[in-house]
Amino acid sequence: MSDFAPPLKVPFNRPTLGERELAYVTEAVRSGHLSGDGLFTRRCHEHLERLTGCHKALLTTSCTHALEMCALLLRLEPGDEVIVPSFTFVSTANAFAVHGARLVFADIRPDTLNIDESLLPSLLTPRTRAIVVVHYAGVACEMDAVMNLARDRGIVVIEDNAHGLFGGYRGQPLGSFGALATQSFHETKNISCGEGGALLINDPAFSERAEILREKGTNRSRFFRGQVDKYTWVDLGSSYLPSEILAAVLWGQLEQAEQIQARRRRIWQRYDSELADWATAHGFRRPVVPEHCNQAWHMYYLLAPSLEVRTNFIAWLRRQGILAVFHYQPLHASPMGLTLGGRDATCPVTCDVADRLVRLPLYHAMTDAEQDTVLSAVRAFAV
Ligand SMILES: *Cc1c(COP(=O)(O)O)cnc(C)c1O
Repeated sequence: MSDFAPPLKVPFNRPTLGERELAYVTEAVRSGHLSGDGLFTRRCHEHLERLTGCHKALLTTSCTHALEMCALLLRLEPGDEVIVPSFTFVSTANAFAVHGARLVFADIRPDTLNIDESLLPSLLTPRTRAIVVVHYAGVACEMDAVMNLARDRGIVVIEDNAHGLFGGYRGQPLGSFGALATQSFHETKNISCGEGGALLINDPAFSERAEILREKGTNRSRFFRGQVDKYTWVDLGSSYLPSEILAAVLWGQLEQAEQIQARRRRIWQRYDSELADWATAHGFRRPVVPEHCNQAWHMYYLLAPSLEVRTNFIAWLRRQGILAVFHYQPLHASPMGLTLGGRDATCPVTCDVADRLVRLPLYHAMTDAEQDTVLSAVRAFAV
């Protein structure tokens, strides 16, 4: 096998912003309001509230920051535990560790690759404060089981919904189950402004403090609403609000969400139907999407029969000018994870899936010709 890598014909992701986003950026700049919480931010908030039915949406500078706000809202005390899946992006865990949580890593289900709700009872202790779920690839976790368990014990459920905007579980939008949920608008996500995120608040008890945390620990939001006559330092906090320029980009994207989602859906379904026979014949597994989950069309992945086959598959596609990539490595076994509770965790499904999963290119600007290139190359792969 040679290491020769020809120029890319099909990237893994191609972020595209169009004339609409540029026009809104121009409008934001001309308006003279460049800092946060202006007209475009308000539009995004209202839109996210309508879309998910959450009590209040707040744009943030990233999903990571929205998760950090969740950690601060929990008022964690030393020894408090937060359950997170091991198979996720580092921020799902890091945001809580950085604010003092003891992490408890949970394994995932072999079908949806979501946190395995059947393991949760064995991970609970009197110190468990929160369970963070990730709707992997935009396919819902088993929220009935998670919510019932948490409700009985007064545990806060937080949805890291970075993949799941527009998805649902038994007809209810993802992001509306947990007391808190977080979104990402990073360039790799379905809807993007480059770097950005949102905190969705479903339990109104968190609303006022969330606004304060986001405004550097001040009650500035109440001041602007005329509820107090001067604003002052009232709590901990940081600067978590994005500028109007980014909100303008995001608004342009949200307005086009229907077309973006329709295109992603089409690409996803075409991969799935066109590769069905090939996958069966070659020992690759396609994504599992249960009936009661309407997915968010975030990602198309395959599970290779082994690490060796995956390595060869990725190298083969790269030689055809296609970038396919693997995904999360087990957090509990990472150098940092091992120092933060990872040593006590056993997550065999996470370890297995991390070695075998490969993601195919999927972006809304992907052309049929580009997808044809990927499909032909996959079918030509000799296991
Ligand atoms: C992308 C992602 C994040 C981080 O999002 P940022 O906006 O880049 O901070 C967190 N969790 C999951 C599951 C993600 O996919």
